[in-house]
Amino acid sequence: MNLDWKEIDRYLIGEAWAGSRVAEHARVLCEEIGPRWSSSEAEAKAIDYIETQMKADGHDHAEAEPFEVRTWDHEEAEATVDGQPIHFVPFNRCPTCSVEGPIVDVGFATPHALQDARSDLSGSIAVMNLGHEPFTTPVPHNDRLIQLREAGTAAVICVDTKTGDRAEYHNAGDWSKPERAEPPLPVATTSREDGALLRRHSLEGRSVRFVVESRFYNAPSANVAGRIDGDRWPDEHLHLGGHHDTVLCAPGGNDNASGTIAVLETGRVLAGLKRDLGIGPGRPIRFVTYSGEEQGFQGAIEYVNRHYVSGAPPRLAVNLDELSTGHIKGLVLAFPHLRNFIQAQFEQMGDGLTCHVMAQLDASSDHFPFLRKGIDAAHCWRWRFRGRHPDSDFHHETADTVDKLNVRELKEYAAQLSRLLLRLSHQPPEAWPENPQTEESVQKRLAEERGTVVRVY
Ligand SMILES: [Zn+2]
Repeated sequence: MNLDWKEIDRYLIGEAWAGSRVAEHARVLCEEIGPRWSSSEAEAKAIDYIETQMKADGHDHAEAEPFEVRTWDHEEAEATVDGQPIHFVPFNRCPTCSVEGPIVDVGFATPHALQDARSDLSGSIAVMNLGHEPFTTPVPHNDRLIQLREAGTAAVICVDTKTGDRAEYHNAGDWSKPERAEPPLPVATTSREDGALLRRHSLEGRSVRFVVESRFYNAPSANVAGRIDGDRWPDEHLHLGGHHDTVLCAPGGNDNASGTIAVLETGRVLAGLKRDLGIGPGRPIRFVTYSGEEQGFQGAIEYVNRHYVSGAPPRLAVNLDELSTGHIKGLVLAFPHLRNFIQAQFEQMGDGLTCHVMAQLDASSDHFPFLRKGIDAAHCWRWRFRGRHPDSDFHHETADTVDKLNVRELKEYAAQLSRLLLRLSHQPPEAWPENPQTEESVQKRLAEERGTVVRVY
């Protein structure tokens, strides 16, 4: 099959830029609809909106795939010292708790700090830095929380690493076992400023009252799945996804209207290429926005269970999350065998994009449910690398607003992702290196890496 890549690239890049709907999608998702916690009415509106867009953009098929999400919310959530409120955001899925106890400063909860504080911890409210102490081996914060629970701590207030009176909805639990990833004890976040205040109070021997009233329940939600057919190898496919949900209260500009919009825009320009120039993918490409990423990847897990327990897995699944942390630089794979093959596509594209392989399995976003099944899954370089924007740490907080989303960079993401996916879709089956991964080999590697900090930031 003879494809004129110059003509194709001219269309894809031109359409991604001049026909862009990035700004309009961002306005609707972040401002008109707003925070999209899975199971909320706003999420339902976002699901309708995305499905309608995919149909209007010319996907060969698009539909919401409903399922039930195990969700959580809270009513009261506050901490007070002598009646004075402290900046306080419960962790996602924090259990109900109403307790008052002495404030104990455990620093970074390093082994020596825990040893020093051990006799004071029973029934206390510990104040712990969420970041890593620079002189000792970094320990995941969830492991430190478990140690505090085992020492009898009643609840923990974590001090956010950000400056400027900010605090976000953090997660705890072991997310490499996402179905069971729950905070090990009542835990909340405070700002650095109020963390310093609590530490002063601890020296004065004062107590803090910690109250969270929360509930867990099942509620309807859905992923949204679109598809552009390809007729050379119709029984195979590629997959592009990103979560459309947010945490409570966050409009989710960076996390993850950015990824949702890149899924939509990449689909739109590829559907346009097929419609306007008659050039479709070689193998079908699926475009999926997931529910429930912020609640243990529930949408991506549902998608993988629904489609890939018996059905053939994708040749490659690419996950888009927090794309406004920096311009596109390439892809990061979990497994090494596709690196040179994908790099060869990047060389042909000629824009200096590179393909890397993570040294550790990254359980921080929706690629994880794919890769734990041994499916080839990649994500964009989002946090770890050069070119990360200095103000790019907006995600789980009210200030992750539409202005955190970078319109011009998202146009480039859509252009480059559509160029890459179309090229990959036309690579014949025999050109793809075999995938030697199995669920067992992935589990073995996960067990070896458990307890280490995965450098995602
Ligand atoms: Zn995200």
